[in-house]
Amino acid sequence: MKCPRCNKNDAVKIQFKDDFSICPDCFEKMRREAIAPHIENRMKHVGVPSRYLGAWLTDFPKLDLDIDKPYFIIGPVDTGKTHLLAALVKEQLLKQKRCIWIKAPMFFADVRESPDRGAKLLKQITAIPYLFIDDLGAERLTDWVFECWYRIIDYRYSEQKYTSVTLNKVDNLDERLFRRLRDMTTLLEMNDD
Ligand SMILES: [Zn+2]
Repeated sequence: MKCPRCNKNDAVKIQFKDDFSICPDCFEKMRREAIAPHIENRMKHVGVPSRYLGAWLTDFPKLDLDIDKPYFIIGPVDTGKTHLLAALVKEQLLKQKRCIWIKAPMFFADVRESPDRGAKLLKQITAIPYLFIDDLGAERLTDWVFECWYRIIDYRYSEQKYTSVTLNKVDNLDERLFRRLRDMTTLLEMNDD
């Protein structure tokens, strides 16, 4: 049966309130259209700062990105790293993936503030399918923070969970963490032009 929406592809039966037939491509599009009006709320809800809610991948016409790949975005301040990370989380939220966004320095301040809540937060970011870490390396790297990071990153590496990060300077990051992250992401260097 032809897809009633695009008339091109073969339709399959979809279970969604009432059963109906549509091709998988059109179903994906429909889902995106349904979420789009609420997307900024969802972004806010997973932790994206207000300033970046309007970010879209089309803001980066020169970059050829595969949204299913995790990225390691490196570059000086004001090169759009956080903006790009926000555009990436938006794409996953449009696909209804479970995401968490953290800003590294603030996250560890939160964790330290309350040990009970902190343990829960650490567990959450370890297990979440899609993790976005902004400003990695800007937190003070005590032995404890390093150990937390290493455990989280190593687990996510082993379980092949999506983790995209932004980082200002490679020097800011412990070499072991850097190597682990390099192995599980695609490196993307941002610069002024
Ligand atoms: Zn179709």
